[in-house]
Amino acid sequence: MHIAVLAGDGIGQEIMSEALRVLDALGLPDMRMDHADVGGIAYKNHGHPLPQATLELAMAADAVLFGAVGDPDCDNLERHLRPEQAVLGLRQEMQTFANLRPAKAFAGLESLSALKPEIAGAIDLLILRELTGDIYFGEKGRRTTDTGLREGYDVMAYNEEEIARIARVAFKAAQGRRKKLCSVDKANVLQTSVLWREVVNEVAAEYSDVELSHMYVDNAAMQLVRNPGQFDVMLTGNIFGDILSDQASMCVGSIGLLASASLGTGTKGLYEPIHGSAPDIAGKGIANPLAMILSAAMMLRHSFDMEAQAARVEQAVADVLHQGILGHDLGGSASTREIGDAVVAQLASQA
Ligand code: NAD
Repeated sequence: MHIAVLAGDGIGQEIMSEALRVLDALGLPDMRMDHADVGGIAYKNHGHPLPQATLELAMAADAVLFGAVGDPDCDNLERHLRPEQAVLGLRQEMQTFANLRPAKAFAGLESLSALKPEIAGAIDLLILRELTGDIYFGEKGRRTTDTGLREGYDVMAYNEEEIARIARVAFKAAQGRRKKLCSVDKANVLQTSVLWREVVNEVAAEYSDVELSHMYVDNAAMQLVRNPGQFDVMLTGNIFGDILSDQASMCVGSIGLLASASLGTGTKGLYEPIHGSAPDIAGKGIANPLAMILSAAMMLRHSFDMEAQAARVEQAVADVLHQGILGHDLGGSASTREIGDAVVAQLASQA
């Protein structure tokens, strides 16, 4: 297991330390970790947010564990030198087209959700968002209309291969969960969505054990707050997934709790919390490391086929939260280190 550890900026270093302690506590054999600079710190040390050496390490490793990037000192740099370009560059180079964002209620935290506790308590879903196509990557530009008005345009497009490969990831994910897949589109209006639905239906024939349904994106947005417990895996294109996954994260509680994985065709992946570098609290020792720790658990599951170890970490995190050991983002007073300590202690008590 060769892991590229890219902690990045701000709270990235603090939360990464705790995730590495948790991995260490699992006592996994043959784990090699190589660290490299990424983001603002990489710009300061090497003149580029994604230095060649960092990129080469990421490409050579079996998985990339990524903290966060973003540094106010770099806000005025040219766009291609800004820290945030590093994560976009990595996703592009690694061709990670599938973004997995689980959102699951934690017992005892239901009252922190933006939803009613009894509705929030039922959340246990996985959003599978296509990450490298759609309107974000189609032809775009500015032009002038016949009547002289300024006009902006962005073309939405998916080809059948792009749809089929993300659909297969989604069906496989559903097979490992409650075997329900809801594909989200806007097939009542968009041709892209008509093809999306057609191809998803074709791929469904390969996964007869998974129950497939389709939902228009506007209805999906409503159902996510009305009755999120109905969803197991939600499959979406890039723009719909972008919006729905942020919505789902706030249904759970804090941004400091949500992990993500970006995967390509093989088992290699990029694992990162959904939050940024939080410069407002960096260096204070109060960042919640749980999203980072849960990202490491996703790495064990998806890149190293270590389901049992991933589940152990997730259970330890759930137990720590249930015990009321809460970070500042959740209204508690536990420090980054204390939360890491608690997860490590919980792992030891499971053994
Ligand atoms: P942010 O996610 O960094 O912070 C938003 C708010 O949530 C802040 O108040 C912060 O203190 C809090 N927060 C975030 N993570 C937390 C944690 N683990 N524990 C406790 N509180 C936490 O978003 P932002 O402030 O909009 O962006 C800050 C920087 O991060 C910017 O430079 C932005 O571009 C970058 N960013 C990077 C990524 C990434 O690395 N993938 C993602 C989003 C934003």
